[in-house]
Amino acid sequence: MKQKETMSNTPSDDVIDDLDHVATSFDTPLRADAFEMDDELKIELISKHFKEIMQVLGLDLNDDSLKGTPNRVAKMYVQEVFSGLNPKNKPHARLFENKFGYDQMLVEKEITFYSHCEHHFVPIYGKAHVAYISSGKVIGLSKINRIVQYYAKRPQVQERMTVQIANELRSVLKTEDVAVVIDANHMCVSSRGVGDTNSKTGTAHFSGKFTNEDTKKEFLNYINTPA
Ligand SMILES: [Zn+2]
Repeated sequence: MKQKETMSNTPSDDVIDDLDHVATSFDTPLRADAFEMDDELKIELISKHFKEIMQVLGLDLNDDSLKGTPNRVAKMYVQEVFSGLNPKNKPHARLFENKFGYDQMLVEKEITFYSHCEHHFVPIYGKAHVAYISSGKVIGLSKINRIVQYYAKRPQVQERMTVQIANELRSVLKTEDVAVVIDANHMCVSSRGVGDTNSKTGTAHFSGKFTNEDTKKEFLNYINTPA
């Protein structure tokens, strides 16, 4: 397995060799009126436009197998794979008192996610590994998973997704001590273009105590040890 690693705060030239895929901002670029239209209308409009794309491609929309595709794609975009664009779908994280006084790092590794590359609208999928050190509060483990899924369900670039997850954890957990590592496969690399089926892309973001080499190493050792 080939693995490239980049620190999201110091992108190096050899990692970002494809200018198409440079993240420009940590916020997903959204228009101010992004949610003025309700989901039902979005589905109707996307369905109509997707039908046109299929027609331009020369597909026969009267065919039984293709007939329902525009509506299926539209529903999938709005309700599933891009549902993380809408702040109303953001997971509400309930915090608990850290009663046990556990002051070491808490790691949740191998969180499977499915996202989409915003440059080609094809899947990016992989594993996210997340850690934090409690500042007095703890979060339910399933919530970490939900935060990852929320930011994955958008048109994304991997670098931005990594930082968005880290920022959200910092804000929810009220701690600077957060680490996020993501290993992902990009279908836009493996199924088209250069056709490289084996490469994986790694991104990492470390803040607070995780910028300390020993703490970082402890986390990386943990996620690299097979369960
Ligand atoms: Zn792409």
